[in-house]
Amino acid sequence: MTDILKGIVAAEGIAVGRAYLFIKEKLEVNNKKIDKENIPEEKNKFIDALKEYRDYLTNLEADTDAQKNVVEAHIGMLDDPYLLETVNNKIEEGDNVESSLVNSISEMVSTIEGLDDPYLKERAIDYKDIGERLLYIIKGVKPQRLFPLPENSIIVAEELTPTDTSVMDRDNVIGFCMNLGGKTAHTSIIAQTLDIPALVGMKNVTEVVKDGDLIIIDNNKGKLIVNPDEGTVEEYKKIVNELKEEKERLEKYKNEDSITPDGKKVEVAVNIGNLEDLKDGIEKGAKSVGLFRTEFLYMGNTHFPKEEEQFKVYKRACELLEGNTLIIRTLDIGGDKSLSYFEFPKEDNPFLGWRALRICFDMCDVFETQLRAILRASKFGNVKILLPMVISVDEIIRFNNILEKVKNDLRERKEEFNEEIEVGIMVETPASSIIADELIKYVDFFSIGTNDLTQYVLAVDRGNEKISNLYSTYNKAVLRMIKRVIDISHEHGKWTGMCGGFAGDAKATKMLLGMGLDEYSVPAPRVAKIKDIIRNTSIEESENFAKEILSLSTTKEIEERIKKEFNI
Ligand code: PEP
Ligand code: MG
Repeated sequence: MTDILKGIVAAEGIAVGRAYLFIKEKLEVNNKKIDKENIPEEKNKFIDALKEYRDYLTNLEADTDAQKNVVEAHIGMLDDPYLLETVNNKIEEGDNVESSLVNSISEMVSTIEGLDDPYLKERAIDYKDIGERLLYIIKGVKPQRLFPLPENSIIVAEELTPTDTSVMDRDNVIGFCMNLGGKTAHTSIIAQTLDIPALVGMKNVTEVVKDGDLIIIDNNKGKLIVNPDEGTVEEYKKIVNELKEEKERLEKYKNEDSITPDGKKVEVAVNIGNLEDLKDGIEKGAKSVGLFRTEFLYMGNTHFPKEEEQFKVYKRACELLEGNTLIIRTLDIGGDKSLSYFEFPKEDNPFLGWRALRICFDMCDVFETQLRAILRASKFGNVKILLPMVISVDEIIRFNNILEKVKNDLRERKEEFNEEIEVGIMVETPASSIIADELIKYVDFFSIGTNDLTQYVLAVDRGNEKISNLYSTYNKAVLRMIKRVIDISHEHGKWTGMCGGFAGDAKATKMLLGMGLDEYSVPAPRVAKIKDIIRNTSIEESENFAKEILSLSTTKEIEERIKKEFNI
């Protein structure tokens, strides 16, 4: 009998394959107390296990940058003296090495899981993973491995750890399904990098699916089809083949400019959070960066990054871009993004609270440090500044005063920078879109942040699963705003880009082109596809399509019309 299960789409795509059920052996933990004279022996067992696991990681051949990051992160955790000290303290108190390890890890995991930051929260799995690996070593049990795998395997697991995936048989895995997990979990990031579909947060997939079952991941719809009938399999195999051919075709043209058949050049840039993302974006055909989410430099740190640390990263990005545009967004922290080394005040509505520019204005030192680093890097490339969460002209005036002060500091230091550096704002609040006609007089460009714009215009929390059916950028209110913002920038001889997720939605590309969007900034795997659509859609055709869409009134009509256009 066919079953359909739902999940959260952590990486896009479609896969037809056999389930490889990955259930780990539950290890019994020995809780016996030890005598004083056994303390050194137990401590040594732990040191040996640390060493064995460290050697194993060092010799591992990680292929992708994401895998290398996992290995590096795990080595960092193994080398952290806190883990050794915590385990040793428990052994001194009379616990054996197994229970000391398990209890230490579970304390560390509950501390991390208690944090508000979803990104840091998901790092708890790395600690669980390390604890498990060390326990296997101490008990002398060989863990189940994902290497080698049968051809066309879709891994079905309670939760895959980063180490599981780092030793995975990459040639034969075509998808992941997990009971647990979120979009920003390491495993999801690895799936995105490998460009294979992943469904997470499925709750009971390991109970419904049996090892060897024929299954289909359809991440256009976020569903898993278990034991489909022959007709369905054939239908999906056809789609998989088409997607494969499409990928090969896109690969050939990925470096071509995105110029419409009637000659309009539109920029397709990449969104990045670090230099690895930039290298990936360039490899996938992007020539410029439309959004550098600099908060990742801050989140992956133990302190507010210093001017020199930031400068090096921005300068390297300029070098990699060889004179092409690098749009650096100033620190956008707060909301759902926190820092391990800075305590944010508890807020009832963090998304309506102390975030982004508001924090930067209050923490002048932090803001000025970042601006100095950006300005210094501007000497090495085409750097532009992008301000998040703007709601008034007053803020731009305030920002310009700060920028002028920072420029003066650098002049005094005899540092060179681009005196004419361009400044743009994210249009991601209703306020900024309503007064776009005022704001445009003060800035050089707009970049529409549809992720936040959609949540604020519709009053629908972007992270709340319960109302996710209401979260649609195809809502007429949002579409009208997008069109109006683009028109206003053009009336003033300026341009508008889009860096929210909608820019990477291939179903929206034609309509946005028709609305006059000048730049699409998208995640690396979307670059070639969006370029391709632009190269094959004339302005006249897209303008008619956009007009037609904007003449419809319900979200349902709009979505149906879009589906019809793309045969979905
Ligand atoms: C947005 O809000 O659309 C955006 C690009 O910013 P972020 O997703 O980082 O909030
Ligand atoms: Mg935003």
